[in-house]
Amino acid sequence: MSELSPQQTWQAALGELELMLSKANFTTWFKQTTVTSVGDGRVVIAVPTDFTKNYLEKKYHAAILKSLQNVLSVPLKEVTYVVDPRLEGRRGMLAGAPSAEPAAEKLSLAPPPPKEPVNEYGLRPSYTFESFIVGKGNELAHAAAQAVAEHPGQKYNPLFLYGGVGLGKTHLLHAIGHEILKTRPGTRVLCVTCEQFMNDFINAVRAGKGKELKDRYRNVDVLLVDDIQFITGKKETQEEFFHTFNALHQANKQVVLTSDRPPKAIATLEDRMRTRLEWGMMADVAAPDLETRVAILKSKCADLHALVPDEVLHEIATLVQSNVRELEGALTKITAYHQLKNSVPTLDSARAMLSGFSAQSSKKSLTARALISTVANYFDLTTEDLLGQSRAKKLSHPRQIVMYLMREEMRSSYPAIGTELGGRDHTTAMHACDKITRLAEADEKLRTDLALIRERLFAGG
Ligand code: ADP
Ligand code: MG
Repeated sequence: MSELSPQQTWQAALGELELMLSKANFTTWFKQTTVTSVGDGRVVIAVPTDFTKNYLEKKYHAAILKSLQNVLSVPLKEVTYVVDPRLEGRRGMLAGAPSAEPAAEKLSLAPPPPKEPVNEYGLRPSYTFESFIVGKGNELAHAAAQAVAEHPGQKYNPLFLYGGVGLGKTHLLHAIGHEILKTRPGTRVLCVTCEQFMNDFINAVRAGKGKELKDRYRNVDVLLVDDIQFITGKKETQEEFFHTFNALHQANKQVVLTSDRPPKAIATLEDRMRTRLEWGMMADVAAPDLETRVAILKSKCADLHALVPDEVLHEIATLVQSNVRELEGALTKITAYHQLKNSVPTLDSARAMLSGFSAQSSKKSLTARALISTVANYFDLTTEDLLGQSRAKKLSHPRQIVMYLMREEMRSSYPAIGTELGGRDHTTAMHACDKITRLAEADEKLRTDLALIRERLFAGG
């Protein structure tokens, strides 16, 4: 791989990033980037605005490091970002590339970048009922979502949608919001993630603006909350959520929640809240069957304006079974490659390109044990060191990294993290996650550590 030009290197890294991120995020943040130099393990990436620079540094630095290291033949030493306003409005990979690699065309495939990932209601424009394929696995959830969209506040309240990752829960949640706004313009719809709700609450309390927050959340007609399993034990937050929920419910305002598991399996949820959620309608979303997966692929091909033979779609649907997000990723990868080569995907090329796909899915099977021992190894410590009670800095820092990665990579709840780490309190886990998040923003060394640990975690399955 040593002969890759800087452009090709970045192109290859982008290919990896595309698989790691949602389409909207990838397009928004990476479409207009280019590379200005790659040498001696130092990479300089040019971006159109300060805003993008900050965002990449903050949110995607680790992912960028990881993807670059995967394609570079020398150890990666440093990645820096520079602002080049000329990139704005251009396809990044074309800028400053005198040889105009055909590879540059790859990014033009993505649909035009959504200026904002979500609209003023918190809804992602593309997540509508029209773009949702109904099939075995999601029929019930889809029917319940439609019923709620037709009769908000009257039919199933709350509606609780749950199921594994990448199966369309968020899509359905947003579709409800879009449909209500379409049929009843002027309805006050608010869609937030659980994390946003908690942050809003914490910030409002800090700023002494509790009342504004209450007004904001209680004056809506439809409240959509995504990923409620992330609600933490923090008493005031749950309290606020409980009261918000009750106020809306009593006023016959519609509430819809999603979660990766049913209420009874959300350990951090207070009992009274759990009971409330169980009053309503619960619908689970399961993985789509083969026929539905093929139908989803066909519909995505139409979106991408890509021509893929049926037998190839069938093959992709057979190879990628885990979830719809990965299915989309697989299709994007294959169509991108063939549009670049100006050829039509074949069975063989699809198989070859999807051979790496299992590495991606292995992420789901990461266990706490594996994570703890990887971090211990990385810092030349033992698992016992990390599970033990000593608070020496040499141990507490790696321990906090474990907690942070359990949260980020395994989406573990804070109490679960505490338990895995030798029976610590959930507030310790929360503190650790906050702290590492904060430190990583300023500390290059920490970001590199995190990237390298992630690489060890996910390398080779
Ligand atoms: P979840 O919230 O369950 O993790 P998402 O709603 O984010 O999953 O779905 C992941 C991706 O798969 C999204 O891009 C979504 O549009 C797509 N998707 C999921 N289910 C379907 C479906 N039935 N039809 C079309 N696209 C789907
Ligand atoms: Mg989701």
